[in-house]
Amino acid sequence: MLSHNQTPSVAFNQQCDTYAWFSQRAWVEIDLGALSYNVQQLVQFLSPDTQLMAVVKADAYGHGAVTVAQTVLESGASWLGVATVPEAIQLREGGIKAPILILGATHTLEQIHAIAHWNLQPTLCSPKQALVFSDTLEAIKHDSPIPVHIKLDTGMSRLGTNWQQAGEFVQLVQRLPYLSIASIYSHLATADSPDPTVMNEQHRRFEEAIAQIKAMGIEPPCLHLANSAATLADPKLHYDIVRVGLAVYGLYPAPHLQNAINLKPVLQLKARITQIKTIAAGTAVSYGHQFIAPHELRLAVVGIGYADGVPRNLSNNIQVLIRGQRVSQIGTITMDQLMLDVSAIPNIQEGEVVTLLGEQGSEQISADDWAEKLNTISWEILCGFKHRLPRVAVM
Ligand SMILES: *Cc1c(COP(=O)(O)O)cnc(C)c1O
Repeated sequence: MLSHNQTPSVAFNQQCDTYAWFSQRAWVEIDLGALSYNVQQLVQFLSPDTQLMAVVKADAYGHGAVTVAQTVLESGASWLGVATVPEAIQLREGGIKAPILILGATHTLEQIHAIAHWNLQPTLCSPKQALVFSDTLEAIKHDSPIPVHIKLDTGMSRLGTNWQQAGEFVQLVQRLPYLSIASIYSHLATADSPDPTVMNEQHRRFEEAIAQIKAMGIEPPCLHLANSAATLADPKLHYDIVRVGLAVYGLYPAPHLQNAINLKPVLQLKARITQIKTIAAGTAVSYGHQFIAPHELRLAVVGIGYADGVPRNLSNNIQVLIRGQRVSQIGTITMDQLMLDVSAIPNIQEGEVVTLLGEQGSEQISADDWAEKLNTISWEILCGFKHRLPRVAVM
């Protein structure tokens, strides 16, 4: 008998589908082999002088931060990027020793103390923030300077000091005790566009800022500019580190970048059929009766819904995979459950596994398919999966 909390594995799904009542109703499957493959592809694509920072913010884009961090570091990444201090602490508590850059802004005493305590590397966005850091570290008489990363705004109009003030800013930070400049970086706003005009202008501004810094007699130790899209688009944007998120998880930032390297999607979304019934022609399904059966059909209820991260706006508009076959979702997606028309699958059983995102045989449904239907991007789909879904690692 299967225990209630037994986690599904690939073999388990294949062998025990029909009576796996007691297993998870829904889960996110993380293919560590694909993750490792993507990192290796990226490392091979980069020159030996360029290091790979795997961006693992937002719980590794919904994939599970600690497990992802361990795998990417074993596979050739040498840096990790996160958005917040708690995300970084979670990695340290998980035993991760690699350098961690906090990409977001940090200001408070608690944040600065934690950065010093956990050996984290903050982004510095303004002279004011640099002074707060320096004063705070002085107050606690921190024993060694902490590595800081200078953020320049070259056209994204998000975090950072305007590129034209790069020289003054870097000079100020260099003079502050307790801080040591580890890198100078910026972020691109349009790297996923087929038109490189804006990206090239940001690159030109970055170069000009670096020239300004060098003219003051300061040699920047390390430079970085590229996200996934820029990494795939143009090697001249690679510099010393590339900060890659999406591509690590096996998705392409844009269709025109699909030829640069081969990537495999890491995440699959799966759930089980919890009930099967036959409904007569004319029977309405789910809240609001938005689907009416055009003929008699076999309906399957599946234990996953919008509280798990399946967007309600996909109602009546997606297909899922069962036994390698595409099956239509019908009726409004509810908080914890959704319905399928499984008439085409002979002898379908309660307990069978449904793949909402992923691959079965020659069929594949990707986060890009959902993103297109929702007029959003795959990034938002991936980090939308809630913690109610266990992350199950498979090789
Ligand atoms: C999130 C983020 C990245 C990674 O972006 P992808 O498009 O997922 O590769 C890189 N740099 C910064 C500053 C980021 O915030």
